[in-house]
Amino acid sequence: MTNEQTDCDVVIVQQAEARASAELMAADAQLAWRQDLKITAERELAAARRHSETAKIKWRSLADATAAAKAQARKLTAPTDPCPWCQHASPYLTDADNPMIQITCEKCGACGPLMANETAAVEAWNRIGNDTERPNAT
Ligand SMILES: [Zn+2]
Repeated sequence: MTNEQTDCDVVIVQQAEARASAELMAADAQLAWRQDLKITAERELAAARRHSETAKIKWRSLADATAAAKAQARKLTAPTDPCPWCQHASPYLTDADNPMIQITCEKCGACGPLMANETAAVEAWNRIGNDTERPNAT
């Protein structure tokens, strides 16, 4: 083997070392980048879980409120006119704020005026439908 060849081999080995070193640095950089991505993804996941938990709690309290409102509502014993807004035939009697009661449409949620008793609430509800300024049914 000549000196020239040996020099050439040294250069080849140095080049290979330089390439390997560059690849190692690139791999380290990629690893760091991936770790950053992982940390970001974990943070986002934790935030999403917190949001989801908050939404579940809100939904539960809303469901509780709806159940409570349904428990408070009862079918009317006195005849009423259909809902002037949506024409639904069977509105509910609701103990809105004891001892005040009102008629509530179970379909569109429209409420009659708060009255002292069932008869007055029914009369007030029926007046809405007979009023000249009755709302337009949509
Ligand atoms: Zn209605």
